[in-house]
Amino acid sequence: MADDQRDPRAGLGERLQAFFAEFSATASLARALQDPNVRAYVEALARGEALPWPRPCHCLCTVAHPGDKGTCDMEAVTTRHYDTELLGPVDVPLCAPCAAAQFIAEVT
Ligand SMILES: [Zn+2]
Ligand SMILES: [Zn+2]
Repeated sequence: MADDQRDPRAGLGERLQAFFAEFSATASLARALQDPNVRAYVEALARGEALPWPRPCHCLCTVAHPGDKGTCDMEAVTTRHYDTELLGPVDVPLCAPCAAAQFIAEVT
């Protein structure tokens, strides 16, 4: 195993380029890549920089799942759609544990 000490990030830029070349025809991904936050994150990854995920979880934990406040891992992986009286329709970024905690809070 001594010769298997490669940096796991080695070649990440090339792999990302290949990924985008292959999937740039996919409409949903093309749209996602137009988001400057996504682009900045991907480009920083390709340069070998570590950045926090640019879409932190926006869950109102103490309100949305008061029984499970400490569960948030801050990295939004999905969004939840709300129709609010004040703001109209909004998509709130949620991390996986918060999405699960909200679900549990609402069905129990
Ligand atoms: Zn939460
Ligand atoms: Zn969260």
